[in-house]
Amino acid sequence: MEDMTIHEIDFALINEFFVELERQGPGSPKETIRALSFIRGLSDRTRIADLGCGTGFQTAVLAQNTEAMITALDLSPDSVGRLNAKAERLGLQDRVKGIVGSMDDLPFRDEQFDIIWSEGAIANIGFERGLAHWKRFLKKGGYVAVTYETWFTEERPAEIEKWWTDAVPEISTMARNISIMQRTGYIPVAVFALPESCWTENYFLPQKARQEEFLKKHAGNRGAENMIAFLKREAELYSKYKSYYGYVFYVGRKHC
Ligand code: SAH
Repeated sequence: MEDMTIHEIDFALINEFFVELERQGPGSPKETIRALSFIRGLSDRTRIADLGCGTGFQTAVLAQNTEAMITALDLSPDSVGRLNAKAERLGLQDRVKGIVGSMDDLPFRDEQFDIIWSEGAIANIGFERGLAHWKRFLKKGGYVAVTYETWFTEERPAEIEKWWTDAVPEISTMARNISIMQRTGYIPVAVFALPESCWTENYFLPQKARQEEFLKKHAGNRGAENMIAFLKREAELYSKYKSYYGYVFYVGRKHC
């Protein structure tokens, strides 16, 4: 059977599945902090936008490792609700505010932010399109920091090439993505690949129990069964082909 693609899965189902998990994409606090370490001039006047924030795992890491004011934005009202509840629980509600909105039509003022952050989300609107759209919302010399699916080699086995090209048609190499950053008006500051544990321990492993629970709850629902099959296949392909691709952190500085 042909693999189904992520675009054939209902957004509401994906959302219902992932909203219960601590994070919705590969990553780790250590890598978020590593990306943050390349950014100069952080203070209590720093303004950060965290786009495609999900339930706010990395938002909390940013809040706990800076004194910044953070606006976190996601398309999913459920995720934003969880993020705001989490901020409250952690006593961060004065500095962290979650809002519902779309990354490709930001409800912000020009030059409102010092930093635009986005982990595991920019592919939803396109790497080039996202970077180009976001630039005007950054102050002069402001930073962008995003993680994005990236090929590690110039060529890949056909099976994995097809899977990722279906999911993220623009998926490319680090060299090409650095060039896109430059073209869209940023000076590349740091580029590094996330370690495997960001996928295995922090993304695939916590899904296992949730998959079983989800299948029970949605017994007989073809859409839900297909989605779980898709997620299992994603994990299988990762263990087979992880030397060919991964998430890469791209940190850039707005070019005047
Ligand atoms: N940053 C989080 C979530 C990544 S999952 C983490 O790393 O754990 C991707 C997120 O992008 C989801 O929460 C999804 O709801 C959100 N998303 C997808 N399309 C979007 C859009 N157009 N605008 C804003 N958020 C979007």
